[in-house]
Amino acid sequence: MLTSFARISLAISVSPLALLAQAEPAPFSDAPVALPGIARTHTPLPTSPAITEEDLKTRLYIVADDSMEGREAGTRGGARANAYLVRELTRLGLTPAGDNGTFLQTIPLSIRAPDTTSTLRIDGVAGAARQFRDWVLVPRIGLQTFLGGQPYGGSFAGTSVPTVFGGRIGASAPLSPEDARGRVVVFVAPTGGNGRPAIAFWQRDNLLAYRDAAAVLVVGGIDAGVPAFFRYPRDSYDDRTRPAPTLTVLLGTRALAESIFGRPLDALAVGASGRSLSGRVGFVDQPTEAPAQNVVAILPGSDPALRREYVAVGSHIDHVGIGAALDHDSVRVANVIARPRGADDPPPTLTEVQRARVAAALDSVHHARPARVDSIANGADDDGSGAVIALELAESFANAPARPKRSLLFVWHTAEEKGLYGAQYYSDHPTVPRDSIVAQVNMDQMGRGGVEDAPPGGPDALVVIGARRLSTELGDLAESVNARSTTPFHFDYSFDKDGDPTNAYCRSDHYMYARFGIPVVFFSAAAWHIDYHMVSDEAQYIDYPRMARIATYVADLTRAIADLDHRPVVDKPKPDPDGTCRQ
Ligand SMILES: [Zn+2]
Repeated sequence: MLTSFARISLAISVSPLALLAQAEPAPFSDAPVALPGIARTHTPLPTSPAITEEDLKTRLYIVADDSMEGREAGTRGGARANAYLVRELTRLGLTPAGDNGTFLQTIPLSIRAPDTTSTLRIDGVAGAARQFRDWVLVPRIGLQTFLGGQPYGGSFAGTSVPTVFGGRIGASAPLSPEDARGRVVVFVAPTGGNGRPAIAFWQRDNLLAYRDAAAVLVVGGIDAGVPAFFRYPRDSYDDRTRPAPTLTVLLGTRALAESIFGRPLDALAVGASGRSLSGRVGFVDQPTEAPAQNVVAILPGSDPALRREYVAVGSHIDHVGIGAALDHDSVRVANVIARPRGADDPPPTLTEVQRARVAAALDSVHHARPARVDSIANGADDDGSGAVIALELAESFANAPARPKRSLLFVWHTAEEKGLYGAQYYSDHPTVPRDSIVAQVNMDQMGRGGVEDAPPGGPDALVVIGARRLSTELGDLAESVNARSTTPFHFDYSFDKDGDPTNAYCRSDHYMYARFGIPVVFFSAAAWHIDYHMVSDEAQYIDYPRMARIATYVADLTRAIADLDHRPVVDKPKPDPDGTCRQ
């Protein structure tokens, strides 16, 4: 799931790690602390048709192995993980449902960087305006617009393009968008609480109203220098078949703007014209190390009529790749004390006492096992667990005496961590008729939440999101299937409230289906844990008995939906597929 999943404070009172946090600072040197975790490696065994802990373990140790390099989308590690899925799906006899008869669907992910050959000139003024000194182009930042991201990242090209002064962003009487059409409109950045230009204006003031301007030039954010951030190449998802509204925004110095207007900005009235601009400003795209690809497979249904309808089973195969090298155990020890939600908590500033505790505990740990330098975010829980549960379901249903009546559509999404791009692309370019998908069951982080993590909802909790947001019947079915189980879960709906600050309903792959009116149910095993988005999210810390229980439940629900004599009734309003998602 996309990060920041904040919620009530975590009571950690059961594990040795919890003891670590709660006990008064005491010399741990003589009592080695055995950090939880089973074997670091696992000998894979042939998998069986049944859903078993052993199968899940075999699969997850493969998918979350260091050799997968954290499975970042568009990297060789990501491609290796896909190759494993394709090998298994071929072995299991599922039907390829990607591009050109393969299991793989390539998405338009590239590496986009500012074009350093860009030029910008004020007509009638000697010398060109200098990139990264006098101006800089703003890339698309963050998520897609309908997920709350800003529609920037356009380019500029023109000769003698007229300019106009737009005033201060957020001012009471700004320039009308009509007066900016085809011109470069120059704005002054809003003033922040500290009285200084607020460079992060794009998070507050959506300039999309000026989309018909040739470009928007904002003054005030780079007078003290251009942050390196603007030079970095970054991932870019650009589906030319479904262009998102894009605006061209440049940041410029006050000196540049005053050269355009030939006088101080404070002396300008809104609507004042300046000298025209000429140039070509843009980005260059580089291909990713390896193609970023969804993995898509179908298990045809047994019923001649119903098999033309699909129950989609989703997870994401990508994670965040390789990061800074750290002492593996120090991450866990420190997080127990100061970062119980892993990357969902801000990096801690340890107090002296905490620092002493960490040092003492680490010393004990290193007595128990040697220090290990670790830079790979293995993503065992996120979302290796969901990805291998989906594979385990495929194996179980492919070998079932009676196959489900409707067909099953398995999609292992790529680039979820980058902005739900794989699911966006699949839902925009489904390889089966979109309206034949009767429901989507999505899984993310299905391997934790055991006693070790002391989940707020208790060890029987299962986080459920979105189950009744389009179809009351789907939510009812999810509960009735659970109630029929000999070991039912306690459904934790606390992230599913309207207006919930986490906005979790909008932040994982299921929303890409829901936006088209497909009923979805999203499951997650644990609210959070110390290894979230850390190098320590490894297969050895997964709760396999609990994961197998969850897998069995998801299989039962998937079959229940697939065997319904009617498709789940959509009784709630369908969202605008391109509208902004707000839970
Ligand atoms: Zn995830």
